[in-house]
Amino acid sequence: MSVVPSTSPNFKANVKEALADEQLQNALANIKNGFVRNRRIASERLAEFEALRDQARDIKTHTIEHLDVYLEIYQQNVEASGGQVHWAMDEVEARKIILEICQNADAKTVTKGKTMIGEEIGINEYLEENGIEPIETDLGEYIIQLRGEMPSHIIAPATHVSKEQVADAFKETHTELDADRSLEDADDLLAEARAMLRDKFIQADVGITGANFLIAETGSSVIVTNEGNGDLTQTLPKVHIALASIEKVVPTLEDVTTLLRVLARSATGQEISSYTTFSTGPRRATDLDGPEEYHVVIVDNGRTEMLAGDFSEMLRCIRCGACMNHCPVYNAVGGHAYGWVYPGPMGAVLTPGLMGLDEAAHLPQASTLCGKCEEVCPVRIPLPTLLRRWRDQVYARDLSDWMTKWGLKYWAMFAKRPALYNFLANPKMRLLAWWAKKHGHLKSIPTLKGWTENRNFPAPEGKTFHQLWKERK
Ligand code: SF4
Repeated sequence: MSVVPSTSPNFKANVKEALADEQLQNALANIKNGFVRNRRIASERLAEFEALRDQARDIKTHTIEHLDVYLEIYQQNVEASGGQVHWAMDEVEARKIILEICQNADAKTVTKGKTMIGEEIGINEYLEENGIEPIETDLGEYIIQLRGEMPSHIIAPATHVSKEQVADAFKETHTELDADRSLEDADDLLAEARAMLRDKFIQADVGITGANFLIAETGSSVIVTNEGNGDLTQTLPKVHIALASIEKVVPTLEDVTTLLRVLARSATGQEISSYTTFSTGPRRATDLDGPEEYHVVIVDNGRTEMLAGDFSEMLRCIRCGACMNHCPVYNAVGGHAYGWVYPGPMGAVLTPGLMGLDEAAHLPQASTLCGKCEEVCPVRIPLPTLLRRWRDQVYARDLSDWMTKWGLKYWAMFAKRPALYNFLANPKMRLLAWWAKKHGHLKSIPTLKGWTENRNFPAPEGKTFHQLWKERK
């Protein structure tokens, strides 16, 4: 069980709150208009994009099937380049290792690049409890750190926050600056964040980054950013800690180049991100800059268990965020409703795997199973299939609420008796079609309020599925 507080069991209440939050709803509209369109354009522009996705899937599948081998090779090569690898079974071990490295460096402040595994193990809170100040340097992470929130998206952590809210957070925190300064433009906000962070980069004793990939054949860690903050985090302090989960390892440099080609296009629609940085070991005598110590903390935290079970395919995930950008549920409720570190379809599969189904039984239900997530996933993770697998387990373990159990029981009773099903469903369908005639859709259905509370229900039109199926034969 993670120590990072989770509200996943309250998913339904979280959803209600999110749907009523006008500002959040406006912010979510930007995801649809930005990331989705950009990914489409970038993927259409590259003739071999689909072939690259197949290669990316195969690279990750092969690596996961031989994870022990590649992790061992990776460790040997990190050590050969003068770095150290630390293994952590869970978040407790990971936090202790990181704290010890920081204490050995006599660290007072730590700069941080964006790391989802850092969120997962609650590293900021732990460092603070132990008298070390963690400073997020990714702009989105910096904003949510000031607001005391979790990320709401894995690549755009502050996507739920408006410009005005950022200005308020800056005015509340940067009290040494002129209280009457203008923070109306995004450029003003960016300039202020940059100025505030500049000194922190220089003062920090330790820099912690995540790692998009760990390359076994070279012992390198790779980070992908658009702000350059990751580079400053890992090169300026005297100690660099790269924090990664076990599935981040890939065999070769060549493999990483394939994965990078699908990652940026799937995430932001860029051909390549602004900064793609490879770090290998500490600073060498001939290097102009770089850390004196290079540590890699590799965390398991439930992944080995997933590896051996029905959800191992989820470990192919390269954290591009495309599945959530295209998910109608994520786009309606945002990331915080999911209640923990990983939102959207990937979170709905990964969170039960890491935290246990008791904690996250609602999440696999948070999907229309439209299949869009699988359609856009660069490593072709069959997310709808995995969601269905979790749903089977929720049902088998009797974790559903009474309404769902009751509903499924009665639906099954009718579904097993097609004549009875048609006898009852056909007139109902005709009634709904007649009722919706005026608007072309239904604004409310008395017994199914949840379906129509926040959107119109399409009017039934034409023949039923059963009728069409019969005609097809
Ligand atoms: S599941 Fe696929 S689409 Fe979603 S974040 Fe992971 S790699 Fe990207």
